[in-house]
Amino acid sequence: MFNKRIKIKKLLTEQPSGQQVTVMGWVKSFRNNQFIALNDGSTNNNIQIVTELGKFDETTLKRITISAALMVSGTLIPSLGKGQQMEIKADEITILGDSDAEKYPLQPKKHSLEFLREIAHLRFRTSTFGAVFRIRHSLAFAIHQFFNERGFVYLHTPIITASDAEGAGEMFKVTTLPFDNTPRTPDGEINYKEDFFGRATNLTVSGQLEGELGATGLGDIYTFGPTFRAENSNTPRHLAEFWMIEPEMAFYDLEDNMNLAEEFIKYIIRYAMEHNAEDLTFLQQRLIEEEKLLPQDKRSEMGLLQKLEFVLNNAFERISYTEAIDILIQSPPYKKKKFQYEVKWGMDMQSEHERYLVEKHFKKPVIVTDYPADIKAFYMRQNDDGKTVAAMDILAPGIGEIVGGSQREERLEKLGTRMKAMNIPQEELSWYLDTRRFGTVPHAGFGLGFERMVLFVTGMSNIRDVIPFPRTPKNAAF
Ligand code: ATP
Ligand code: MN
Repeated sequence: MFNKRIKIKKLLTEQPSGQQVTVMGWVKSFRNNQFIALNDGSTNNNIQIVTELGKFDETTLKRITISAALMVSGTLIPSLGKGQQMEIKADEITILGDSDAEKYPLQPKKHSLEFLREIAHLRFRTSTFGAVFRIRHSLAFAIHQFFNERGFVYLHTPIITASDAEGAGEMFKVTTLPFDNTPRTPDGEINYKEDFFGRATNLTVSGQLEGELGATGLGDIYTFGPTFRAENSNTPRHLAEFWMIEPEMAFYDLEDNMNLAEEFIKYIIRYAMEHNAEDLTFLQQRLIEEEKLLPQDKRSEMGLLQKLEFVLNNAFERISYTEAIDILIQSPPYKKKKFQYEVKWGMDMQSEHERYLVEKHFKKPVIVTDYPADIKAFYMRQNDDGKTVAAMDILAPGIGEIVGGSQREERLEKLGTRMKAMNIPQEELSWYLDTRRFGTVPHAGFGLGFERMVLFVTGMSNIRDVIPFPRTPKNAAF
C-alpha cells in the first residue's frame, strides 16, 4: 500500500510524542537547507519538516524546491522553534515530483486574483483558493444535509431540455446538426426533426419546472446541479455555467417558502462557521488586507465573521416590492439623482437599488415579496390585487439577488390565462399543466445561486474566484 499518509489537518491535532508518521504534500518553502514547510491541501497550515544536517545527500536537498511533491516519514516531536507546536524530524524523504523553481508560475509572493485566474489549474495550491474551495465543499455538503434532515428527495432534473418556455435567460443550443448544409424545412427553417433528439434542445437554465413535477408527487424535493445561461453579462456576479439549488415543496405558501429559505441560508452559514473556522479567519484577514487599499468609506463595516454572525442572529427584513419602491423614492440617492436607472412602480429593480436597500437602508438581508406580475415568470401565483404575484427575492449585502422564488400558480384556469397572455404555448407544456389537472396543490419553491452563496460566505468579490473553472463570455479555458 502506497498511501499510508496522515493528512496534515489531522496530524496537527495530535500530541507530538515521538510517534512515527508519514506525510505527503507540496513544498511551500525550504529555509536554511533545514526547514521544509509542507502543505497537502487539507488545511492552510503547513507541517514543518526538519532535515538534520548531514543526514540527506546534496542531490536530494537540491530537489526540495517550491511546489515539489514529497513523501516524508519521520518522528513527530514538539517543535523547538517558535511559530509551530510540532514538527517532523525526517528519517526518509522521497521526491515524488520535481518542480523547477525557476519556471514555477507561483512564486512565493502576493499574486493578484486576476493573474491567478489565468493559472486556475495551479491556484488550488494557494492559501486563498485552498480556503475558498474547502468552504465551497462544506457548503455543498451542508446543503444536502439540510434537506436530507427534513425528508427532501434529491431529484436530478435533466441538463438537456426541450422546454424553452421558462424564459429565465438566454440558452445554449444543444445540437448535432452540421453548420454547413444544415437541413432545412421547405420554408427554410432549420429542420430539427433531423437533429439528435428530433427536436430543438438546450442546456437547462433552471430545473424548476421538472422540480415541480417531482414535488407534486414526492412532496418535498430539491435539485442541486449545473445551469447554463448564455447571457452576455460580464459582471462579477454572473457566470455562463453556475450551480443552482432549487427546492420545491408541496403544501407550501409564500410565507412557508420564505421561512424555509431563511432557515436554509442560516443553516449552511452556521455549518461553515463550525467546520471551516480557520479558513474563514484566513479569508477575513485577507479581506482586511485587500481593503486597506480602499478609501475608508469603501471598506466593509464588519469583518467577515462578524458579518456572518450578524446574519445568523438577525431575522431577514421582509418587505413588499411596493414598500421597496417607496423606500427608494424617499432615499437620499434618489433625491440627489444618484441612481443611474429610474425608480418607478413596475420596473425591475437594478443592482444599485437592491444594494441600497440591503447595504444602506436595512444593513442586512432583505426578502422582497409580491413583485409586479409583468416582470415575473408565468408560473408565479397571481395575487388578488390583479397586479402582483407571490414572488420573493432574497437580497444579500455585497451580492444583490441571491435567491429568487415564488409560490407557484396551482389554479389551472389562472395559469392558462397567464400563459396565453404571455404567448406561451400550452400544448408544449401540457405535462406541466397535468399537475394542475390532477390533484393540484398549493406549492412553492426557490432557486439559490450556489456561487453567489459561496461569494457571500467567503467574502470574495468576483464570482470567477469561487468556482474552480469559470465559464464567462469569451472564456472557457481548462
Ligand atoms: P440576476 O437578476 O442577478 O441576473 P436572475 O433574476 O436572472 O438573477 P433567477 O433566474 O431567479 O436569477 O435565478 C435564481 C438564482 O440563480 C439567482 O437568485 C442567483 O442567485 C443565481 N443566478 C442567476 N443567474 C446567475 C448567473 N448568471 N451566474 C450565477 N448565478 C446566477
Ligand atoms: Mn439574470
